[in-house]
Amino acid sequence: INISCNDLEKLQVLGHGNGGTVYKVRHKRTSEIYALKVVHADTDDAIVRRQVFREMEILRHTDSPYIVHCHGIYEKPSGDIGILMEYMDLGTLDTLVQKEGTFSEAKLAHVAHQVLNGLNYLHNHKIIHRDIKPSNLLAKNGNEMEVKIADFGVSIIMRRTLDPCKSYVGTCAYMSPERFDPDAYGGNYNGYAADIWSLGLTLLELYLGYFPFLTPGQRPDWATLMCAICFGDPPSLPENASDEFRNFLECCLQKESTKRWTAAQLLSHPFVSKDPRSDR
Ligand code: ADP
Ligand code: MG
Repeated sequence: INISCNDLEKLQVLGHGNGGTVYKVRHKRTSEIYALKVVHADTDDAIVRRQVFREMEILRHTDSPYIVHCHGIYEKPSGDIGILMEYMDLGTLDTLVQKEGTFSEAKLAHVAHQVLNGLNYLHNHKIIHRDIKPSNLLAKNGNEMEVKIADFGVSIIMRRTLDPCKSYVGTCAYMSPERFDPDAYGGNYNGYAADIWSLGLTLLELYLGYFPFLTPGQRPDWATLMCAICFGDPPSLPENASDEFRNFLECCLQKESTKRWTAAQLLSHPFVSKDPRSDR
């Protein structure tokens, strides 16, 4: 269906991103609920505008149940931009873990399975997300919790080979070792593997309840963090976790990017292939 921007009624603010605001909106004729990301024209910040155009380009070209669905893009004469998305009623995984506590292994297998399907889709379409983290994964209540990848502000479509020097984007804490030091960790820079590292850290954070490279309550300090990522051992699970989960995370958190498993390989790992959604 074609949804006109004038038929949308703003209900509440869902969140502020850099440069824009996301609203919960209602379509007046159908009463259907959506999320609308609005970026104002007076954002003269060139970086923000570039991020919005990247996001628009990627959302226009993706169609997967594991990627937040885009229903329309509006560009007003004033220059304001609106991106109409499906509404994800449970919000981000980051707020979900704060509200409901840490995730069980079964729940994480379910999350991992869906995010891997999303990443597999993106990587097959030559798209690298580059900012996988709990606050960019959205959840929706359904028969079982649905998880989808969102926020393509810093993603990239691979048209040429990637120059690692020009790809210093994303949230630093979730960045993989080879993005700091491409020569040391897999020379032949493979941008796709960076998303897998970030997924591994994300799952570990949802299990632990805190960011794996920091102790609970420790304030992030950029230099310490970078040293830990590049020179320390990859973070791992506590004793009581299952061997399957431990092994799965080891496959994601290989410091050497070429040894890290791909999304397609990880989808057949026993930790996720047992998830009931697997056979769909
Ligand atoms: P930014 O690029 O600035 O991080 P996001 O696209 O991540 O912006 O959105 C900002 C916030 O708005 C998110 O953290 C989330 O709380 C909320 N949000 C974004 N998209 C949706 C959606 N489709 N459904 C529900 N909430 C959303
Ligand atoms: Mg975000």
